[in-house]
Amino acid sequence: MILGKTIESWCASYPLINELIALQETSWFNPGIAPTAEALADVGLTAADVADASARLDRFASYIMQVFPETRASGGIIESGILPMPKLQAELMARHDQESAGQLWLKADCNLPISGSIKARGGIYEVLKHAEDLALAAGLLTIDDDYAKLDSDAMRAFFGQYKVAVGSTGNLGLSIGIMSAQLGFQASVHMSADARQWKKDKLRAHGVTVVEYESDYSVAVAQGRKQAESDPSCHFVDDENSTSLFLGYAVAAERLQRQIAAAGITVDAEHPLFVYLPCGVGGGPGGVAFGLKLVFGDAVHCIFAEPTHSPCMLLGVHTGMHDAVSVQDFGIDNVTAADGLAVGRASGFVGKAMQRLLDGYYTVSDETLYRYLALAEQLEGIRMEPSALAGVQGMARVLQETQGYRARIGLSAERMANATHLVWGTGGSMVPPAEMEAYLAKGRALLA
Ligand SMILES: *Cc1c(COP(=O)(O)O)cnc(C)c1O
Repeated sequence: MILGKTIESWCASYPLINELIALQETSWFNPGIAPTAEALADVGLTAADVADASARLDRFASYIMQVFPETRASGGIIESGILPMPKLQAELMARHDQESAGQLWLKADCNLPISGSIKARGGIYEVLKHAEDLALAAGLLTIDDDYAKLDSDAMRAFFGQYKVAVGSTGNLGLSIGIMSAQLGFQASVHMSADARQWKKDKLRAHGVTVVEYESDYSVAVAQGRKQAESDPSCHFVDDENSTSLFLGYAVAAERLQRQIAAAGITVDAEHPLFVYLPCGVGGGPGGVAFGLKLVFGDAVHCIFAEPTHSPCMLLGVHTGMHDAVSVQDFGIDNVTAADGLAVGRASGFVGKAMQRLLDGYYTVSDETLYRYLALAEQLEGIRMEPSALAGVQGMARVLQETQGYRARIGLSAERMANATHLVWGTGGSMVPPAEMEAYLAKGRALLA
């Protein structure tokens, strides 16, 4: 029984669950989508909160630039570029036997400095905010100071009295661990069984304590939370509920707006922007989507992509049960090569806050991820980890949908011809070369 109902009765109420249980690739376009102006209030956060986060990241830029020289070119701002993907688009359309409409682009978060994934947004932001809160309260910093002063033995000794803990499938741990250790915090990362060995090794090399679990992400998070609860000096980064993480991700949107304008791309009612976001627990894609809705309103259409083995957000939102159900409740194993997306229970906060703002959700098999991993490298020279490929099929899913979604929200053929489709490429540049070769070999074998 799941929440007082049998699986059969859940499937009778929500036939889509049959497809999830059968691990079929599927798409669901949200019939409950609401006008942005109305639904934004559901989130409980505002444009002022995002602006506050953005200003905080600006304050830290001189420090970031000093301690992470790879951010010098961007003045200490952790940001990635956008890249057109014409060859990948042609291949995607051919594979789906689909007439092309609009243009496919990539948001290259795989190349984000410091930790090589989208977690360099929210994860690093939350650690910086915590450090700022502590230093301001102790009278060691004012917001008008040059934050480069945080790069000192005295400040590292100050932060060294405090701990930061997080549960992670890998990439969040990398971001939190590297940033915390750099500031001087005692950092511990609780890693789920699916976390890659190289991510654990890298963290240990940075002096971070890595605690390993035989079980999945939810258990690693629960253990991290438990450690922090019994220790007032310990800040727990709560991937399932943190508004701080969420706001760190949301800052991406104003920067994307500038990049899109600089690339000569128009986004308005006649020129829709579709954004395809790989979803694990939901904080990363949720935060980015929230920022995008603030910036572009009804002109942006955000769609989440999950592995067929871990469709936690689709399951939670579709049934309205959010974090009260897990994929394992339905016999779905949560075992996937997309380690950043290996989450069985979605964030309740994100699912509820965003349910009227997201256009849709779809699932992809690991084989699909590997095929596009190889194709993205072969056709566009871009190397990403499996999770980061989840968004590639989104354009085809939208163009092929037969659920009445495009008609319902006025996406005419003319508008679709003007559309920009942006795949959020969430991670990969830090994958060790031998590991990347193994990913590519797997993808090429599936293409052959
Ligand atoms: C964490 C992660 C995601 C998804 O972010 P969530 O906040 O867990 O939904 C997507 N791709 C990669 C590479 C990630 O590391």
